[in-house]
Amino acid sequence: MPLTANVRHLEEREVLLKGELPVSELCLDLQDELIRAERPLEYDLQLEKMEESILVQGVLRLVLDCECARCLRPFQFGVHLPKWAVLLPLEGEDKVSLCNDLLDLTPFVREDMLLEFPQHPLCRPECPGLKKNSERGRERRSGSGESPKPQAGSDVWTGLDKLKL
Ligand SMILES: [Zn+2]
Repeated sequence: MPLTANVRHLEEREVLLKGELPVSELCLDLQDELIRAERPLEYDLQLEKMEESILVQGVLRLVLDCECARCLRPFQFGVHLPKWAVLLPLEGEDKVSLCNDLLDLTPFVREDMLLEFPQHPLCRPECPGLKKNSERGRERRSGSGESPKPQAGSDVWTGLDKLKL
């Protein structure tokens, strides 16, 4: 199902849109081969008519499969817009185009998601890059008995939140 809302329905009350959008429908056109978008976009949006415009706000999430630019390790990068909001005018020069009363949110989502994509994907900010075998061996021997690393999948949002602070 495309990410659209019928503006007629907005005349009466707010509209909630929640679900997943196949990432192919976002048409991201990624040029960076270190970043792959294959998982669906999760959205949870509320649309509201405000005089001559439509206010859209809510949550957007997309998990990217990246490769670290330094160590080439695959990792997940969560693009999370917890307070996404956009005001779309229905009148005037910048008014949004409707097709059979349907408002397509996809272009606005695409634009704002792309702004949050990593420019230079790193598995972690201090990634030292590829290590030589000898160094890796030494590290293992002096091992500090560290606890197992958290799985990337479950931790991806908390990791991102930390980054944003
Ligand atoms: Zn790395």
